[in-house]
Amino acid sequence: MIACLIFNALEAAGTIVWATIKRRHVPGSMPGRVSSLDWLISIGLLPLSFALTAPVDALGLRRARPARSQAPLRRPRGYSSVGRAPDLDDAVFSCWHVLVSARDVVVINVFTAIPPAGTKAPRWDRITGADDPEARMRLRLEEDEAALALAGRRPENLGFVDSHYRDEPPSDILEAVLGRLSDGVAVIAPAAIGGHSDHELVRDVGLALAAEGRDVWLYGDLPYSTALGWPAWVTGEEGDPFLDVDAYWALHVPDGYEPRPVELSEELQRTKLAAMRMYRSQFAAVEAGPQRRLTHPQLIRFEIFWKPHPTGESPSYTSPTAGL
Ligand SMILES: [Zn+2]
Repeated sequence: MIACLIFNALEAAGTIVWATIKRRHVPGSMPGRVSSLDWLISIGLLPLSFALTAPVDALGLRRARPARSQAPLRRPRGYSSVGRAPDLDDAVFSCWHVLVSARDVVVINVFTAIPPAGTKAPRWDRITGADDPEARMRLRLEEDEAALALAGRRPENLGFVDSHYRDEPPSDILEAVLGRLSDGVAVIAPAAIGGHSDHELVRDVGLALAAEGRDVWLYGDLPYSTALGWPAWVTGEEGDPFLDVDAYWALHVPDGYEPRPVELSEELQRTKLAAMRMYRSQFAAVEAGPQRRLTHPQLIRFEIFWKPHPTGESPSYTSPTAGL
């Protein structure tokens, strides 16, 4: 905590000095170039750190630690999984520790169609400063490629029209997803916490795959899953008898699934933050200013997944506050 405070204080001081020097000494025509070079140097070694992550992990020096007594989300090596994200940015926001793991991971983005020229900017585009949906979607696709590249992943885009740009939901997502799945891979689909319609469509596809006997996990959609913060049993802090986050989750997570929170190491939090910032056109609105829905130190510490309960019975995650 104290180290973090000192680190951030030093970093803030350095940033102010650097910004002042840039203003005073860089000719008016060149600040863009100087900033790009600065950024390139700042993040240039990220790929190297990713390359080193797996060997270091194999040595047992760093582990994504599970919260309290929960077992970590771990699978045998070589086990491949497919993360299915409804929209661009969901995989990075919600499943970062899976993306940077040593597993063979494929990210399938469902709603990635470029809306036809002349489409009127819907509400979300206007909130995020866009008046040209076609250009905005192209930008978002680029941002997604850049963010996933930080984890060494490339997206597979299915090209369905995002809910912002359509009237009727598509009905053939399941077929499109099946076309990308090889036998035996595990699937990670959104739990659709928060009730976003696109997330619900993809969750239903995940549940349909589970009904066919596939190994399907659900991930907690961030930042919606943490609209009320993490439950005390995840953070290890003292609970409040008047807040039951599990009850909120239970509105969305189907019976028969049990939660597996994963604590991200500080290094993972740092790389995740860098990746989330790659979604420049979305970051400010999703972060929501002082609410810090993506980067609040407590919120960014965990990701959560739900695993099918082995017996198929109701999950054993009755919260400690239930019944109060
Ligand atoms: Zn989404």
